[in-house]
Amino acid sequence: MKAWRFYGFGDLRLDEIPTPQLRPRHVLAQVLVVQPSVTEAQLAAGVRTLAYERIKKRLETEAPVQLFGHEFCVRIVEVGPGVTRFKPGDRVAARAKLPCEFCPLCDSGRGHLCRKGPIIGFQLPGCFSEYAILPENALTLVDDRISDNEAACLQSLSDSVASVETAEIKVGDSVAFLGQGSMGIECMQIAKVSGAGKIITVDVRDEACKLSKQLGADYAINATREDPVAAIRDLTGGNGADIVFECAGGSPTQGLAGTGSVSQAIDAVRSGGKIIGVSWFGSPFELDVDLLRERSLRYLFPDISTLEHLQHTVSLAASGRVNMKPMITHVLDGIENVPKAFEITANKGKFQAINPAQVRMAE
Ligand SMILES: [Zn+2]
Repeated sequence: MKAWRFYGFGDLRLDEIPTPQLRPRHVLAQVLVVQPSVTEAQLAAGVRTLAYERIKKRLETEAPVQLFGHEFCVRIVEVGPGVTRFKPGDRVAARAKLPCEFCPLCDSGRGHLCRKGPIIGFQLPGCFSEYAILPENALTLVDDRISDNEAACLQSLSDSVASVETAEIKVGDSVAFLGQGSMGIECMQIAKVSGAGKIITVDVRDEACKLSKQLGADYAINATREDPVAAIRDLTGGNGADIVFECAGGSPTQGLAGTGSVSQAIDAVRSGGKIIGVSWFGSPFELDVDLLRERSLRYLFPDISTLEHLQHTVSLAASGRVNMKPMITHVLDGIENVPKAFEITANKGKFQAINPAQVRMAE
């Protein structure tokens, strides 16, 4: 089969390799649509972010190596021994982070807290190839009402579902979202159907603000023209929002907000309110913790998504309660276009992309 393999940061080659062997409790699947995550696109180019050191080490010791590709829609070709939930022909999508199934947490039914299991695309080969071997416990059936392109967004959407659950929104809570990239817009839509009251979003791109309003925000603030903290306070009676999702931070060279969005979140949330930290920053930064302490703020980080989150995600997408279609702005045709998808996804601002760029690999 054809598979993209990494020989180093920025060195991606389309190789002919043997189709991998089926194992117990795994399926062999044909890849239909795949997209790099923003993190993967940054790592591919050697940008410091989540898991940079681990990927660097794998490249130094194992190259050429199949990396990345955990956001996908695939069709099952064959199931291995012990697979009970799927059959050949099923379309499935996946969550990325898996429980190890052996540690005390997994043994006691708390596998969602386990961090010892593999991540698809990082420890296990992902889907930048014609075929892939995937573990059954990662997968969920895709409803017929969801297209292949939308299904490739379900992994990221399930992380957003987990993030919104972490926020424990009370009915009527005012919620602000800093950053309306794909996860920001996803979290906004999920919060709206999970009881949020007034919804205020912030971005620096007009097209993101427009899409955000179209998909349900009550107010979409362009931070290049208006102070977002002042605007959020004005819209919440001077106190600040009950909950602020920080989805804007990260490397400014990729068009992200650096660490300034964390200070903005602290200033924009009411005392006793919650900040949900969705962004990854790639390196340490200073934070005045006394500000959080003094105002009894809760700075929370999302749980990882479970199979239950993923299944709820399918129901949100299938019923139309969350709409991903307008977010899918770039679809490329054919496996040879994978590097282009990485380039667009690593520079979404420049290419006016909202969702990562997708690659259609097969019909
Ligand atoms: Zn475990």
